[in-house]
Amino acid sequence: MIAVNSKLPNAGTSIFPVMTGLANEYNAINLAQGFPDFPTSPQLISLVNEYMKKGMNQYAPTAGILPLRERIAEMTASLTGRTYSPDTEITITAGGTQAIYAAIEALIRDGDEVIIFEPAYDCYSPNIRVHGGIPRPIELTPPDYKINWDNVKKLISHKTRMIMINTPHNPTGTILSKDDIDELINITKDTDILILSDEVYEHIVFDGKEHHSMAKYPELAERSLIVSSFGKTFHTTGWRLGYLLGPAYLMAEIRKLQQFAIYTCITPIQYAIADFMANPNNYLEVKEMYQQKRNYFASLMKATRFNLLTVGGSYFQTAHYNKISNEGDYDFAVRITKEFGVATIPTSVFYTSGTDNKVIRFCFAKKEETLDRAIERLIKI
Ligand code: GLN
Repeated sequence: MIAVNSKLPNAGTSIFPVMTGLANEYNAINLAQGFPDFPTSPQLISLVNEYMKKGMNQYAPTAGILPLRERIAEMTASLTGRTYSPDTEITITAGGTQAIYAAIEALIRDGDEVIIFEPAYDCYSPNIRVHGGIPRPIELTPPDYKINWDNVKKLISHKTRMIMINTPHNPTGTILSKDDIDELINITKDTDILILSDEVYEHIVFDGKEHHSMAKYPELAERSLIVSSFGKTFHTTGWRLGYLLGPAYLMAEIRKLQQFAIYTCITPIQYAIADFMANPNNYLEVKEMYQQKRNYFASLMKATRFNLLTVGGSYFQTAHYNKISNEGDYDFAVRITKEFGVATIPTSVFYTSGTDNKVIRFCFAKKEETLDRAIERLIKI
């Protein structure tokens, strides 16, 4: 063997394939990894097919095909009031995770500090570290996982290069409020701090609440890169398509690296999504569909001994299991997968220090019959 100096010596396997693997092994219902088990639109599938048959099977431009960037610009303008230039301010990426990677790769250098809020989606910290950055986590606590902005202020120094935002938040399902936005505006005013805002669940916000995209606030938009994902919006997580929005001078840096990393993303699917997005209902109706699923799952869960936390968005429901067990959340999640046949995600894995609040995450992006079968098992716990 030739010696390799690992860039991520302490990284194990991400919790998502771990729990999915366990679910498959034990024939459990997989409410762990976040992916829909219902089909995407047949119209979208036909469009992909059509574009493949038409021969749209060669390289797209690095930024993505223009019609798709135009549809994204129209959608973003209608939802946020900000017009991003398809030419210079929108880039198609190979999914949300690759968008996050690309933004960090382009903008974080050795010794740069990046403030993240934990529990944090599991790619944030490794992506920062692999580029020489230093993650500075701030722990959020259930039940509301509210950000204490005084703690953020204390952590900011001349080394702070970036603050990572995630709203709606994975794994907790919480959303930022207008007060949070005001705090973020104040804290970053007159600084060189960039914001990387993961908004992949932008269309999944409940109970008439508002999604506070960075794009809505000029003071924030000017320093923000916003990440979104077609996988989340069109139930196609395996297609690996997402995008970045941001000011041209930042986007230019990202595109420079992107051309040497992935060069470009899958062509026919970009054309298909561009056509599909011409009808805004195709993304606007996602909110109501998930609102119903959230309500359905939450009402069924009342028959169990889990205590549900309040979620504002995303397709995740968090729950305390303190009435059931004192076990650590990882052990608990593994045990109920094996013994009761329902896989979930323990939230302690999203804290650098492994903080265990005894909270697990359920994904309810599932057919009603899947949720029904899961509840039949969960009420036995
Ligand atoms: N975003 C999905 C989740 O939170 C999983 C994605 C992945 O498996 N990397 O469950």
